[in-house]
Amino acid sequence: TAPARDRLRIAIQKNGRLAEPARSLLTACGLSWRQSRDKLFCYGESLPVDLLLVRDDDIPGLIADGVCDFGIVGRNELDEQGAARRRIGLPDAYQALRGLNFGQCRLMLAVPEEWEWTGVEQLAGKRIATSYPAILADWLAARGVDAQVVELSGSVEIAPRLGTADLICDLVSSGATLAANQLKPVETLLESEAVLAGPVRTPDDARAGLMAMLLRRLDGVVNVQD
Ligand code: ATP
Ligand code: ZN
Repeated sequence: TAPARDRLRIAIQKNGRLAEPARSLLTACGLSWRQSRDKLFCYGESLPVDLLLVRDDDIPGLIADGVCDFGIVGRNELDEQGAARRRIGLPDAYQALRGLNFGQCRLMLAVPEEWEWTGVEQLAGKRIATSYPAILADWLAARGVDAQVVELSGSVEIAPRLGTADLICDLVSSGATLAANQLKPVETLLESEAVLAGPVRTPDDARAGLMAMLLRRLDGVVNVQD
């Protein structure tokens, strides 16, 4: 078990789509930090709540390892790493505690525009490029479809044109990227948004009170936003 701590640590994305909205949300909850915008670690001033600025991919693991207590990350990333853990028999190590009303997107299957989409049976024997192999594999298995999952870390949308896959499974918000690559969305695997992620069990020290207080403040702030 991780050692007791009396300060809370929250991991947020350093750069990218969720970085600014996550920081603004925490600021609206009354948190502030010593000037350290370009650092990995920001020391909490108004409360004993420190920030870790990291890649979004690292956030679920930081919570699983007890390095951070909370994280702000896309449900897509949290679910993917959770599904990947389950596939290799590891226990659940984090959970989504609150939806945060930003970072909305969908994980979707998209096929070449000229395909006439008739349903998932069409996927049998096809190669699907994705950065979400565990979510996709679970989704296919639940539908009894035998397709090949091709894992790519980026530029998934060009895979059909390159011939490395027949279709893709990727995040979509406006659909402009798909259209630019002559692809069209056909199925939604996941409706995603940024979430506050936390551990499965609340730590048994001073952090418990801080976590409860932050959740209360968050509920006030997120609920008045819309
Ligand atoms: P990092 O350097 O932290 O790994 P990244 O490239 O993985 O960054 P971003 O592109 O900044 O991440 O996306 C972060 C999150 O924003 C996504 O995981 C997703 O939850 C959300 N998001 C919202 N809209 C989109 C979109 N159109 N494409 C990709 N992600 C989106
Ligand atoms: Zn990432």
